[in-house]
Amino acid sequence: MIIPRPQKINLLNEKGYSIDSIFDIEDLACNEIQDTTLPNEGYILAIKENMVELKYKDHIAKERAKASLTQLVKTCGQEIPAMIIEDAPKIQMRAYMLDVARYFFSVEEVLKQIDYLALYKFNTLHLHLNDDQGWRVEIKAFPKLTEIGSIRRRTLFRLKEHKGYYTQDDLRKIVDYAHSKGIRVIPEIDVPGHFQSAVASYPEFGCFNRNVRVAENFGVKFDVACIGKENTVDAIKTIIKELMSIFTDEYFHIGGDEVPSQRWELCPHCKQKYLALGCKNYNEFQAHFMNELGAFIINNGKTPIMWNESNPTGIIDERIVWECWDIDYNNEKFQKEIARGRKIINAKTEPYYLDLPYGINNLKRVYDYEPLVFEENLIGVETCLWGELLPNVKTARKKTFPRLLAVAERLWSNEKDYFSFEQELIQHNKILETFGVKPTPKWLYNPTGIVKIFSKLWWARRVLYWAGLPNIITNAKIKKKYGR
Ligand SMILES: [Zn+2]
Repeated sequence: MIIPRPQKINLLNEKGYSIDSIFDIEDLACNEIQDTTLPNEGYILAIKENMVELKYKDHIAKERAKASLTQLVKTCGQEIPAMIIEDAPKIQMRAYMLDVARYFFSVEEVLKQIDYLALYKFNTLHLHLNDDQGWRVEIKAFPKLTEIGSIRRRTLFRLKEHKGYYTQDDLRKIVDYAHSKGIRVIPEIDVPGHFQSAVASYPEFGCFNRNVRVAENFGVKFDVACIGKENTVDAIKTIIKELMSIFTDEYFHIGGDEVPSQRWELCPHCKQKYLALGCKNYNEFQAHFMNELGAFIINNGKTPIMWNESNPTGIIDERIVWECWDIDYNNEKFQKEIARGRKIINAKTEPYYLDLPYGINNLKRVYDYEPLVFEENLIGVETCLWGELLPNVKTARKKTFPRLLAVAERLWSNEKDYFSFEQELIQHNKILETFGVKPTPKWLYNPTGIVKIFSKLWWARRVLYWAGLPNIITNAKIKKKYGR
């Protein structure tokens, strides 16, 4: 009936609520009572013959209850059985990341995604708004970011232009809609790496004022932000400041992942700053920048988040939340960070990256994973949909469902029962179909044999696209020109 499975369901031995004539849950005769003593997002639903009674903590909890009711109406047929549901989530932040930078999703598609998230009781949408392959948000102070940075001349899949960006009004619309569904929005401006679309728009943001194009293939690019120049650092703060007034929730994500140091090592501005700071390596050099940006965000009343790499340097400001995607949780240095009180978001690539093929992150693996790590330090858990290989919404949906439902269940519910979850899923295919999502067959979501091998090979070819060679050739040219 309900995914994620509620904490407590008491089925009553009496007649249930007839839903013959209900087309919309707003038509349901529902008696609503606010009860602020309930836990966060907590609600109690009593369903009887002629009456549904709903107790809820606040408007967010009411949205969670409405999600349960919607699922009951859509899966129960003629009559919702009489029952009492007492419910509240296990994990406080249940997040989903959408990469709109590689391929643009229209405002309507993002709103639709918010509907899915609300229906399955996620409470956080993280938007990855820029990358080497595209800049997707209007910034009034730097109009060329969208005039130039939002257009890719071609992509991996098509030899034609791909473009799109959100105006600031679009962004407000997305944030307002998410809030109406009890979902917070975390914006991410990824710096100093994954920044080539910005350098393409304003060459002076990069190390050698070179004219580069918005990246056409994917991979880690060397044209990162020149953090040796105060002007670039100030520009990044201006960009963040503009967005902070639109994204009104607590968190702001500043990326920080996969930053190659090749340009910095050759750049006179960066070399000068590196020496002035007394850095021992370029990890430290980046850490100084992340700390400066983190402090800027904190001074503006918000909490910064950054992606965490596998080699923590031990000098990142402990007020910055680490979103852990490839951390070895047994790593000694990492455990020291935990002891320092570092707050974390668990976004473990395997199994929580939904863009990975089902041959790697199959449905059962996603369901079986235990998301609660370092409970004292854990702010939340996030599942991510990266867009490098997802050129359209249809492909994105195939990757998202049904795995999103498995994540939903494990982040909300204390109970774990894969067999009954898989049974429930059949009922939920009906709901997903009304959203235009075709059910993924079992042989695909839990592949075995040749399908599994094919799935892994398909993923392995991604390495060929990682574009290491063009990076190395260009860097050799720069080294010849500027290096000593
Ligand atoms: Zn530089």
